[in-house]
Amino acid sequence: MSRSTDSAPAPAETESTSAETTASETDVGTSASGEANADATDAEAPLLAARNISKYYDQSEGFLDDLIGDARPVRAVDGVDLEVRRGETLAVVGESGCGKSTLGRTLLNLESVTGGHIEYRGEDITGLSGSAMQPYRRDLQMVFQDPLASLNPRQTVGEILKAPMEVHGIGESDEERTERVRELLGLVGLKEGHLDRYPRQFSGGQQQRVGVARALTLSPELIVADEPVSALDVSVQAQILDLLDDLQTELDLALCFVTHDLSVVRHVADRVAVMYLGEIIETAPVEELFANPRHPYTKSLLSAVPRIDPAARTDRTVLEGTVPSPADPPSGCRFHTRCPAVIPPAEWAGTQAEFKSAFTFRNRVLGEEIDPEAIRTRLSAESAATDNDAVATRITERFVPDTDAQLPANARKAIENAAARLANGETEAAKTTVTEAFPSPCEDETPRDTPTEGGHVACHRVDPEMPGDPDVL
Ligand code: SF4
Repeated sequence: MSRSTDSAPAPAETESTSAETTASETDVGTSASGEANADATDAEAPLLAARNISKYYDQSEGFLDDLIGDARPVRAVDGVDLEVRRGETLAVVGESGCGKSTLGRTLLNLESVTGGHIEYRGEDITGLSGSAMQPYRRDLQMVFQDPLASLNPRQTVGEILKAPMEVHGIGESDEERTERVRELLGLVGLKEGHLDRYPRQFSGGQQQRVGVARALTLSPELIVADEPVSALDVSVQAQILDLLDDLQTELDLALCFVTHDLSVVRHVADRVAVMYLGEIIETAPVEELFANPRHPYTKSLLSAVPRIDPAARTDRTVLEGTVPSPADPPSGCRFHTRCPAVIPPAEWAGTQAEFKSAFTFRNRVLGEEIDPEAIRTRLSAESAATDNDAVATRITERFVPDTDAQLPANARKAIENAAARLANGETEAAKTTVTEAFPSPCEDETPRDTPTEGGHVACHRVDPEMPGDPDVL
């Protein structure tokens, strides 16, 4: 993590007074495979690597869906390359539904990949399960978003923490395993007396401490923490983040921290991978990402992060439109339907803001978001004219007002034509009009990964071989 500390883990709220035991790495054991390979491992070599992995979910509900072609898979993760290095915290950030949690589970083989490979210490572990995965499972653990749902309610904390040791044959006796559990409780800031309690007897923060202790039971090399604080009160979130921070430093863990909250990332991550609609669109060291974000989506996410420093504050970029379906992602750059920096065609005579306004109208027409009959009803309620010309005028006034964009004359004409066709019920003709009038290279070509300072970004504006000013935002 970016912060280093010599202090013991933060105490658990209410019931725990202090981290009574601060165990060293050897205190909680070191996995056999970890010891065997540690010396040979280059510190810069990835511990875990995803190579072009995809995870699709079949959403067809039977023969009829297949027959009528409504069985497109949900492309939750699509062609992701990602590396997690020894001892680092990599944050995977994105909006809800972007695929980041699926990616986290897939990295650990908790879900099978649809395509691509996962390598742990250079070994291909793709598709391994059961006994074949067991030697690696010791090294690769997970902390879940909802701690209570992830803990067996019928087991005491002692039983929960001993169970993985029994499965993996750790400890010569029950006493030895119990002693290890005591060490783990101390390590996460819980008390020895918590050993015989059931999960429901703990607060949310304490439950998550148990979840962290369980992940540490087998002395892993890497933990994927999936939104580990999002279900907790704000006051408790900081304690759990501090705990993970301290443990990561103390045990030299690699952490893959999955979150929707960029404000959390700054305090926990060394590197950040930003995800949008199943793809990684930017990676960078955390300081570089906050100081110099390159992808328009990253910039919009960062603009929403509260800053204490007034000089660091920027105007918030509010993204237009909804996140497209991962079953039918947009062509080219998947962000092009919402991107404020979407690139105009070479012949565009207006400004970027004007093109964005016209392009947003285009996307509303293509997405059939404009309902001319609803507008006609509204006009009638206002006792105004309801003929097609009046509906078309209202569409342009409502969706591309002159106050927003003084469009070039030919662009204004195209929008008026499209609005007239919508009012006439000619939806497909309206779509053709806006598609021909407002094309963009962003919808035609998938952006390449362009190397940046310590990472990469997938945006045409950053690609020196593509058109578009990189500093337009
Ligand atoms: S490629 Fe185009 S649409 Fe995609 S992020 Fe870059 S400018 Fe925006």
